[in-house]
Amino acid sequence: MIILDGKKIKDKVLDELRYEVAKLPLKPNLVVIQVGDNEASNIYINQKQKMALYIGYGFKHLKFNADINETDLLLEINKLNNDMEVHGILVQMPLPSHIDPSIIQNAIDYKKDVDGLTDINAGKLLHGKDALFPCTPLGVMRLLDEYNISVSGKNAVIVGRSDLVGKPMAVMLSKAGATVSICHSKTKNLEKYTLLADILVVAVGKIGLITSDMVHDGAVVIDVGINKCDDKICGDVCFDEVKNKASYISPVPFGVGQMTVAMLGVNVLKAFNMQRNM
Ligand code: NAP
Repeated sequence: MIILDGKKIKDKVLDELRYEVAKLPLKPNLVVIQVGDNEASNIYINQKQKMALYIGYGFKHLKFNADINETDLLLEINKLNNDMEVHGILVQMPLPSHIDPSIIQNAIDYKKDVDGLTDINAGKLLHGKDALFPCTPLGVMRLLDEYNISVSGKNAVIVGRSDLVGKPMAVMLSKAGATVSICHSKTKNLEKYTLLADILVVAVGKIGLITSDMVHDGAVVIDVGINKCDDKICGDVCFDEVKNKASYISPVPFGVGQMTVAMLGVNVLKAFNMQRNM
């Protein structure tokens, strides 16, 4: 069994980006918008800032009070859309309940949408056009590629169908030639599907969802889940038992989460280049 080392690959990707960015005449700039003071969001934004500064991007963190209204937030996004020196914009989720995340997400210029979550970019992914795509499934694809795990002709099973992970993951794996099944909360006999998986991607948010009897010998198991367990972080897969069956397995932490941050770095440079080539 081989552990898919997200940290090692992230470091490699960040070094590649740093090298490319050093050659640019201008600095790509990333702006992260936060509303309120969610504790997990603060940690994620710190990781993004660290990544951006390491690569050599400009980084701005705009933090608004939790009571900002939707109209004012849209005005702020519009300002950033029109600012030629801003190349990437992302809104850190979650937003307070009085703000509709879909409206806010779709207000971002799709060319600056480094999270790849606007309807335009989701449509482009579906239609096989190049664009900015969601970082987590991009990170999973890169992890598979870095470990030379072939996808074409494989049975891929994805557990979870969110816009953020499951759905774009399904499109990417299908495009790479896998036969894809998507499971979700209404799936009956989950193990009937997971046992068919040559590549199993789990993105649910439930500790211990995938046990060793749900995985076939030699499967590639990618755990996207991030759950709090006591003082630690763990995934959706029972790592200690499933690792004995898997050919490759991603750990939590230091697996897909690392790749997500790395792919944000990739998307910022891509957005910058897309805007310069217009
Ligand atoms: P989400 O929007 O809550 O979606 C969860 C999905 O799991 C839904 O499609 C849901 O089905 C499905 N589901 C729930 N219970 C299930 C069950 N018992 N069996 C099968 N499917 C079930 O979550 P998300 O944003 O995709 O995130 C999923 C997990 O990944 C979370 O732990 C999150 O923290 C983590 N995450 C990690 C990264 C990273 O970088 N590593 C990035 C993003 C998210 P329905 O559609 O039927 O409700």
